[in-house]
Amino acid sequence: MSKSEPVKASNFIRNIIDEDVAAGKNGGQVVTRFPPEPNGYLHIGHAKSICLNFGTATRYNGRCNLRFDDTNPAKESEEYALAIKDDVTWLGFEWNELRHASDYFDELYEYACELIRQGKAYVDSSSAEEMREMRGTLTEPGIESPYRNRSIEQNLDLFSRMKAGEFNDGDHVLRAKIDMASGNINMRDPTLYRIRKVNHIRTGDKWSIYPMYDYTHCVSDAIENITHSLCTLEFEDHRPLYDWVLDNLKTPSHPQQIEFARLSLEYTMLSKRLLIKLVEENIVNGWDDPRMPTIIGMRRRGYTPEALREFCERIGITKNDAWIEMMVLEGCIRDQLNREAPRRMAVLDPIKVVITDLPADHEQRFTLANHPQDDTAGTREVPFTREIYIDRDDFAEVPPPKYQRLIPGGEVRLRSSYVIKCEEIIKDDAGKVVELRCTHDPDTLGKKPEGRKVKGVIHWVSATYGESAEIRLYNPLFNTPDPAKAESIEDAIDPESEIILSNCIVEPALKDAVAEQHFQFERIGYFVADRHDHSSDNLVFNRVVTLRDTWAK
Ligand code: ATP
Ligand code: MG
Repeated sequence: MSKSEPVKASNFIRNIIDEDVAAGKNGGQVVTRFPPEPNGYLHIGHAKSICLNFGTATRYNGRCNLRFDDTNPAKESEEYALAIKDDVTWLGFEWNELRHASDYFDELYEYACELIRQGKAYVDSSSAEEMREMRGTLTEPGIESPYRNRSIEQNLDLFSRMKAGEFNDGDHVLRAKIDMASGNINMRDPTLYRIRKVNHIRTGDKWSIYPMYDYTHCVSDAIENITHSLCTLEFEDHRPLYDWVLDNLKTPSHPQQIEFARLSLEYTMLSKRLLIKLVEENIVNGWDDPRMPTIIGMRRRGYTPEALREFCERIGITKNDAWIEMMVLEGCIRDQLNREAPRRMAVLDPIKVVITDLPADHEQRFTLANHPQDDTAGTREVPFTREIYIDRDDFAEVPPPKYQRLIPGGEVRLRSSYVIKCEEIIKDDAGKVVELRCTHDPDTLGKKPEGRKVKGVIHWVSATYGESAEIRLYNPLFNTPDPAKAESIEDAIDPESEIILSNCIVEPALKDAVAEQHFQFERIGYFVADRHDHSSDNLVFNRVVTLRDTWAK
């Protein structure tokens, strides 16, 4: 999947909807929703669902609601809800309406009473433990609860008293009356409501009972006239319940649930529960740590909304669970930044080079193109002086075979400048090289040297005009493709996943970089000015991705 071979990724849901629209189903309308629970920050797996739901609505000129599935008050917060809205907006989508499952608590209650009146729901006073025992297993049918045949009047009375707060958590639940012998455990009289005496962010202490996900979700979809309710494969076995509830109630509509494979990405974990652990145990520096697969983490790392949307397009939508390789994600951002990011020079681990045959005050200004393939990207000035810095990597006292950079007595070209020759090495007491004394060939500016070949080209920055910067190199947080399966998370963490280099020198034009601006540092990689820590007085760049794919073996 590289830019040279455009892949028509499969999306079976488009085929289904194409047929529905052609057949005039739902009056040809397409309405979707993205239904996060505000109990954590969104991750790249959610981005797949966001792109699918919002993208589908856009494609068919339809609508997509953002609906907070806020039925678990104990775990949810306003902080998470705000972050989710920011993430969706940043990804480039606009919701038709912002809704909450809690908007429907009254209706959900009325519909539950309707099920009771039809003899299709009952209050069960068994303990959680007893209910678990009576549920049966995959191979054995369940047992009917002794409370299953309570009268409609008794059920209505108990349910209204559950609502009024007369009982304690766990005393009773409301269950659907379906089939304790069903081969599908979800159909063995699933719980519709439980007692939870907790405050809800939006409804305060109005409710002592809260509806369960399976019951809430289908009814909320139906109230919003969702046409296609797209969810991940683990809900396939819940679809009979989704349909059962709606078949038994006179809701405004009966949406079609369609399941697709969730995103699993190698070298990361896509589960809010596990990500919360990383944050709470300070294994990472917060939700927006650039190594996190959260949308805000990826944003801070320098991923763009375009690249994330492109990623979701490339991986497609299928019914088969499959691991996606990190190189697919990295390829998306690399392709974009290769096209768009201005080029700059930066030295990560500087060694000073003194060009001894230039006068102390020598100064030249080169006008360099910002992008080699894009004239519209303009130019910037790069000063060249007698003292410059090059990267420690670009010099070898004892060169390995085929080394084409600077070596004692050897020549190399300074990018867009002269060919220099290393005449002398200066070391400190510990034997570390601290300075290289070189001469230059004045006849090599924009010209090949006479009578010899100089193959290597290295980047450099003027020592006089260079700016100091902190550069943060990121690698995958985990050292194993499926860290959720590791013995312990701690063992799966790669200690080299964040490397902070605080003595870097970058070309002066980078002083104008603004937060979240991207660059290619020539020969090094793609970088972004950190959205929180970078300023013109304190340059901080994060490595988004290396120049070339490092995954290919
Ligand atoms: P997590 O397991 O990380 O807590 P979740 O599924 O519980 O995720 P929700 O807030 O319920 O999180 O998810 C909102 C929507 O995003 C759901 O429709 C869910 O199916 C979808 N979603 C969550 N994770 C993924 C994933 N890895 N790939 C695709 N869609 C996902
Ligand atoms: Mg969930």
